Amino acid sequence: MSNDYDVIVIGAGPAGYVAAIRCAQLGLQTAVVDDFVFKDGEPALGGTCLNVGCIPSKALLDSSEQYHKVTEHLAAHGITARGVELDVEQMIARKDKVVKELTAGVRQLFKVNKIEWIHGHGRLVGARDIEVTSADGEPERYRAGSVVLAPGSRSIELSAAPLDGDRIINSDAALDMTAVPPRLGIIGAGVIGLEMGSVWSRIGSEVVLLEAQDELLGPVDRQLVRTAQKAFKEQGLDIRLGCRVTGTEVGQAVSIRYEDKKGAHQLVVDTLIVAVGRRPNTDDLCSGEVDLLLDERGFINVDEHCRTNLPDVYAVGDVVRGPMLAHKGQEEGVMVAERIAGKAGHVNYETIPWVIYTDPEIAWVGRTEAQLKAAGVPYNVGTFPFAATGRARAMDHSTGLVKLLAHAETDRLLGAHIVGPQASELIAEAVVTMEFAGSAEDLARTIHAHPTLSEAVREAALAVSKRALHKAN
Ligand code: FAD
Ligand code: NAD
Repeated sequence: MSNDYDVIVIGAGPAGYVAAIRCAQLGLQTAVVDDFVFKDGEPALGGTCLNVGCIPSKALLDSSEQYHKVTEHLAAHGITARGVELDVEQMIARKDKVVKELTAGVRQLFKVNKIEWIHGHGRLVGARDIEVTSADGEPERYRAGSVVLAPGSRSIELSAAPLDGDRIINSDAALDMTAVPPRLGIIGAGVIGLEMGSVWSRIGSEVVLLEAQDELLGPVDRQLVRTAQKAFKEQGLDIRLGCRVTGTEVGQAVSIRYEDKKGAHQLVVDTLIVAVGRRPNTDDLCSGEVDLLLDERGFINVDEHCRTNLPDVYAVGDVVRGPMLAHKGQEEGVMVAERIAGKAGHVNYETIPWVIYTDPEIAWVGRTEAQLKAAGVPYNVGTFPFAATGRARAMDHSTGLVKLLAHAETDRLLGAHIVGPQASELIAEAVVTMEFAGSAEDLARTIHAHPTLSEAVREAALAVSKRALHKAN
């Protein structure tokens, strides 16, 4: 078999595997180089997202939510559940099964699209030459018409809390704990900290999060954060802000030293998760002869079409600027594939939704009030609480609100911010409206089924022009 391809993609996470599928759909001979090995020793496609990211974390969030519902919420419905037990090993086994099914699905998609999967570590060694080192250490050379770099990212480590793989762990290992730690510490109250903290707190851990910033979730709308923060507190998540971890000692437990405005403190936990962000995988991506331009933090420099400084070499996903989100990487993968095939692919970076899968869920798209104020853009706000919708009440899930921001003169929807039940799904309506350059009135004039949670989106749209029907304006 020839080692020449139209396109070679390095990395089979959501950015890379989607780029490869789109390339193949467009008739390009495509190969994907990926070095990921699942914990059972089997090479697996899907990258961080499918193996140790989005999917396993959502599987555990779902299991822990089921348990929490049974133990805490069924009584209100008149249901008595006795002798409820949690088998954590089974919970992890279910999560692994979901992961395996999905990664096998990507493998199947590669087969039907005739995409070659080359397992090994890939390095760019020439303009369009790639050297792949397989598990047995044998390097082999390949040549591509175009190269797509999608090597993703990995957890940032902290010198004050070095990982030992047992008591101090990163998010990969936090998805594989087979017992509930009675006391769980988490450094970083970002997206991973809050999602992992929710999982283990729902099934019995006492969770303390130590966050360096003085504000929780800095870039998120403040009204959403206040609502969520109150709910997290009620759930028992102990979030301590403005903390600087200065050291850790590991014995039978982990002793953490940290400082805040009030002075120096010590916290003892059974397990400590370090979740302080992720860094791009660019350390061993090119040989010395290849002059790929990186920024000071190791991200690959790209233009708006994900072109690097090297001709015919593109980079997509977590390894380039922008949010580290699977769907952002996938869109970049599609764009790059289409541009390689001579088409006009593009990504609208203004309409990338964010979701944090806590309870309540937090989701947003577009601008916040703070950003609009800073940019001097005149805007109107419409808000609507879930507590005023019949469906949320019937579901006994009425914490939260929808908040829409529309341009004061044109009424164009500029941002949507939702905290509450199924915010992850509801946000899509705002994304579509914004993609179509729609207005708050467009949403307000659209019939929404009753009773649904989406009525809160329509009512918030009505509230933009002070005519919400089910609340005082
Ligand atoms: P990755 O998914 O990281 O894949 C890169 C692949 O390339 C990996 O398989 C890696 O082994 C391989 N690779 C790296 N270097 C080389 C090389 N030189 N040669 C060969 N192979 C190489 N995002 C969301 O949108 N929603 C979520 O709910 C969500 N939850 C998350 C939960 C957790 C716990 C974590 C850690 C992340 C989560 N993310 C989520 C982020 C999401 O996983 C990433 O944004 C996404 O996986 C990035 O995709 P990617 O294709 O750029 O890289
Ligand atoms: P993050 O950037 O979301 O949060 C890291 C947090 O750690 C921040 O609040 C930061 O202020 C804090 N921090 C940094 N250094 C610290 C220190 N020394 N001490 C205490 N706190 C410190 O990063 P993450 O939670 O590690 O997640 C990484 C990325 O993965 C996210 O940015 C996101 O893009 C992606 N992700 C997305 C989802 C989702 O979409 N639902 C879920 C998980 C992860």
